[in-house]
Amino acid sequence: MFPLNNIFIQNLQSFGNDVTIVDVLRLDAIHKIVSGNKWFKLKYYLQEAINNNCTTIITFGGAYSNHIIATAFACENLNLRCIGIIRGEESTTLSHTLQQAKDYGMELQFVSREAFKNKSEIASKYSNDKAFVIEEGGYGELGAKGAADILKVTDISSYTHIICACGTGTMLAGIADAALPHQQVIGINVLKGYENINEDARQIMQSKKEFIVLNKYHFGGYAKHPQQLINWMNNLWRKENLPTDIVYTSKLLFAVNDLLSSEYFLPNSKILIIHSGGLQGNLSLPKGTLLF
Ligand SMILES: *Cc1c(COP(=O)(O)O)cnc(C)c1O
Repeated sequence: MFPLNNIFIQNLQSFGNDVTIVDVLRLDAIHKIVSGNKWFKLKYYLQEAINNNCTTIITFGGAYSNHIIATAFACENLNLRCIGIIRGEESTTLSHTLQQAKDYGMELQFVSREAFKNKSEIASKYSNDKAFVIEEGGYGELGAKGAADILKVTDISSYTHIICACGTGTMLAGIADAALPHQQVIGINVLKGYENINEDARQIMQSKKEFIVLNKYHFGGYAKHPQQLINWMNNLWRKENLPTDIVYTSKLLFAVNDLLSSEYFLPNSKILIIHSGGLQGNLSLPKGTLLF
């Protein structure tokens, strides 16, 4: 069910130089709609649900959530009933993401932003003994375990640094667990003021490996996308043919470029950027904003 064979590594000529190699692991290539890390984060939850004879999956997200669409798609494929608790009131026209999720059979339940904060209470409203609840963004130990498998898709032993974007920190936790002892793992936090990310990631790790989180590349906050970021994305597309999204990967690539220009990495570093996919956020932009 998890189509992993399209993943490839792309070298970024315009980032590297004689002494530094910069590559991107293109997890976004997995699938047109369900791209990136969400596949990895979901798989052990779904397996656990099936093992426990659960027939319904309940999860949470916003109107442009990559996690919502991935869950909807996976549940349709596994013949599981699927309920998506969506933050915010229902609008007359569904976002592209939600429409797509609905087409995959997800039952959408809209709750106010206030009510959304108390997830266990909402979940209990829809839950029964056949239901399995997956946290927003797939946060949790099984999510991290799945994310650890990202580093198994190809031989990553030659890299000195592995860098990924982080929202809940679940992918970061898994990558830190799976990284080799000589590799430094860096997370680019896309949320503003989410100070607990280090502890939250640590809590769901299997190992005590070290990692670094950089907090200054959020561009104003979650999903904020000033013109400077849009220009950066279009330039990146022109130069490297690399599509990125406004929420996660554009900020990740910007951060790596910034770190390179401030000589953050020692000479002879070999850097692997995890392109975690997720192009749903871009669908919120007016047509023509992006070149891709
Ligand atoms: C969800 C997502 C992330 C963040 O993953 P976490 O495990 O929540 O930190 C990063 N990149 C993309 C493209 C995503 O969709």
